[in-house]
Amino acid sequence: MRLLDDIVAARPQIQAIRRDLHAHPELRFAEHRTSELVASTLHGWGVEVHRGIGGTGVVGVIRGRGVGSTGAASAIAPRAIGLRADMDALPIQEANEFAHRSTNAGRMHACGHDGHTAMLLAAARHLAQAPSFSGIVVLIFQPAEEGGAGAQKMIDDGLFERFPCDAVFAMHNWPGLAVGTLGVANGPVMASTSEFVIRVEGRGAHAAMPDLGVDPIFVAVQIVQGLQALVTRVKRPIDSAVLSVTMIHAGDTTNVIPDTATISGTVRTFRNEVTALFEDGMRRIAQATAQAHRAGAQVQFERNYPPTVNHAREAQFAAAVGDEVLGPQNVLRDVEPTMGAEDFAFMLQRRPGAYLFLGNGTSGGPHRSAGHGAGPCTLHNASYDFNDELIPIGASFWVRLVERFLSQ
Ligand SMILES: [Zn+2]
Ligand SMILES: [Zn+2]
Repeated sequence: MRLLDDIVAARPQIQAIRRDLHAHPELRFAEHRTSELVASTLHGWGVEVHRGIGGTGVVGVIRGRGVGSTGAASAIAPRAIGLRADMDALPIQEANEFAHRSTNAGRMHACGHDGHTAMLLAAARHLAQAPSFSGIVVLIFQPAEEGGAGAQKMIDDGLFERFPCDAVFAMHNWPGLAVGTLGVANGPVMASTSEFVIRVEGRGAHAAMPDLGVDPIFVAVQIVQGLQALVTRVKRPIDSAVLSVTMIHAGDTTNVIPDTATISGTVRTFRNEVTALFEDGMRRIAQATAQAHRAGAQVQFERNYPPTVNHAREAQFAAAVGDEVLGPQNVLRDVEPTMGAEDFAFMLQRRPGAYLFLGNGTSGGPHRSAGHGAGPCTLHNASYDFNDELIPIGASFWVRLVERFLSQ
């Protein structure tokens, strides 16, 4: 690995910030302490700071050689690159017992966003001290990745109008990938998420006299069975998608047929066309099945995050930077996409760019407490912790990405 010496030397300082963030996790759109810490740290390094973008979002701007504070040094706008880190934590009670465990009950950095913030700060420190590039770096510290669409909120707040970016990049620490490896893929890397609720309306009756009512549980079960046809018989086999019914609620006792039953779950796809196919199909199957059994069905379908789709040129560029910093043997091109979701998807809808995976380790590792079972601890687990080994790796990668992008 070719890590930058001053970044390696600054690791204790950045690690202390990372652990402080870990100890003080904040939920989506409530990242007040976190954004204050990010803003004041950047300010202390002489970085131009803008606050309150998309709620608690923070943007830092670092101008390279020959770029004045009004923007362009000449008639030609300077090139600009956006790097994004998310800052929010999850509503989980932390099970770790190390010194930097969460001090906020029921809140935890179980997705490593504390580490994303720290790695971007470490890169900012280096870039601000010795701008060896000509162009603009836009440091995007985003709120509410975990279900709050903070990326979209920042975009709605004029992120890309106020801070134009020619390309945007983000990365996620990834358990199961070895430390020092980078995963890059062309095209979709994470799935879209949608949620659905199907309310089956029957007619309650005595459990011994089903002929006098319309049993919504019987109908709900037919609908649940039928929905899987969307996965196996309706979409093209080559398209990935998953439909999971995760809740069925009906009834209160053994001798009464209830009036209604509710089916809820999630749909994940890599293409909006497939999501549309599922939404239409779900309405058709639910309503026709209910009608066949003299019941009614109301379907609510809500699209949350779109698929995260990397742009080929930027993905290849990031992989080339990975070759340089980590060594070609440590860059996994065409890494397998996951059915998880990520709101950086919204930024990639607006700007070219790529979303990358940075290995967080393949075992429990010395940096973690026990208690999560065998193998690498997964994201969103109560025993998770970002691996501080990644700070100089991720930060060196960010710096070289900037320097090479802005020298193109
Ligand atoms: Zn997460
Ligand atoms: Zn995450």
